[in-house]
Amino acid sequence: MRKVVITGVAGFLGSHLAKDLIDQGNEVIGIDNLYTGKKKNLTDLNKDKFTFINTDICSNELLKHPLLKNIHEIYHLACPASPKYYQARPLETINANTVGTINMLELAKQNRAKILYASTSEVYGDPEVSPQPETYRGNVNTWGPRACYDESKRMGEVFCYLYYSLYNVKVRVARIFNTYSAGLANDDGRVISNFVIQALTGKDITVYGSGEQTRSFCYVTDTIAGFKKMMENEKANGEIINIGNPTEYKIIEIAHLVKELTNSDSHIIFLPLPEDDPRQRKPNIQKAKMLLNWEPKVSIDEGLKQTINIYKEKLVN
Ligand code: NAD
Ligand code: UDP
Repeated sequence: MRKVVITGVAGFLGSHLAKDLIDQGNEVIGIDNLYTGKKKNLTDLNKDKFTFINTDICSNELLKHPLLKNIHEIYHLACPASPKYYQARPLETINANTVGTINMLELAKQNRAKILYASTSEVYGDPEVSPQPETYRGNVNTWGPRACYDESKRMGEVFCYLYYSLYNVKVRVARIFNTYSAGLANDDGRVISNFVIQALTGKDITVYGSGEQTRSFCYVTDTIAGFKKMMENEKANGEIINIGNPTEYKIIEIAHLVKELTNSDSHIIFLPLPEDDPRQRKPNIQKAKMLLNWEPKVSIDEGLKQTINIYKEKLVN
């Protein structure tokens, strides 16, 4: 049994990861300030194996917390991930990825624990190469609404590099590409939850721009399996690894697919494209395949069907 800290535990990925690790017999200490996370995401967790600390990861006092001792692993996920929410609190988003990341790296250093940092495909910005390998250095705008997220995630990676190279802290950086499932909150604002809920409730399906921009969608169970492999495998120590599904879709294709799979009468409408919305995104996952023997298993059809079924139940209850 390992003692594992998860920051951002009440959010989409954090709550899935906590359930998985607890089901495997580990003890989980979860930290969250409930900005985008919800306490109800934690209600099913086994209380004997789970403790919740309701606080901001940037807190000066956090490292003195009596429960944060003898820790084996840290998954540092705390940071709003939906553009709607990180753009509503840009300075807090920067703090989570800078001050908060230093706090978690210090915690790893004190405990000689391994730490996985949740970085993002957004570090590639509006990429000029496709697919994007980890060696691509990105095309990010410092002067725009996405900069608070993209640039602070890049800075978070720098802190990971420094603690790895200066203090031998065992770090892993996961560059996560768009992950989805029905675990996304109804008001999250990201594309899959928006489209599925709109289709199921007969509202217009809102495509931003022409819908020609692309994304590559990974089902949550695949992403979580990738995180765990990164944590377990010593070959991932000191490495940045793309975690995503390389099958790329235009957003308009996703709108039609959701409409078809839900059998919905909703109309597809076109709204303005948000500023700096990346035109394409597709991971090169050769490194994950080679080092971790990891690749996604769930197709978009299968993942969307599961997502739709769970949202149907959630919307009724
Ligand atoms: P989410 O918004 O659902 O969850 C983030 C959690 O962090 C929430 O529970 C929120 O309350 C908490 N949080 C935010 N700021 C905090 C702070 N200062 N102190 C304590 N808690 C704080 O997002 P998610 O989709 O679960 O993403 C988790 C992580 O993975 C994020 O770091 C995100 O940047 C990264 N990521 C996610 C995706 C994706 O597709 N889901 C893609 C790329 C990167
Ligand atoms: N998008 C859309 N309609 C929506 C929400 C998002 O067309 O209701 C588009 C958005 O402009 C982007 C893509 O879907 O091109 C993915 O958006 P999301 O916010 O899920 O994640 P991002 O990859 O942009 O961070």
